[in-house]
Amino acid sequence: MFDMMFDYEHRLFALCESCYWTATIFAKVKSYECPLCPDKNVELIPLNLDEKYEYQLEPNKGFDIKFSRH
Ligand SMILES: [Zn+2]
Repeated sequence: MFDMMFDYEHRLFALCESCYWTATIFAKVKSYECPLCPDKNVELIPLNLDEKYEYQLEPNKGFDIKFSRH
């Protein structure tokens, strides 16, 4: 099980739907290529500075992401 919580002043949450590679990108970009899947662009989810997100990746349940605002 993989369980992480972030609380950064983040800008973009990047998620590859093919391999579940994720990252927080501290820059304004329109597209971002997955480092693991050649020629695959990842999903980019803009995050406000006061938003938190939490995600879990479990082998049997798949990917789960939650956003919350404080
Ligand atoms: Zn990928």
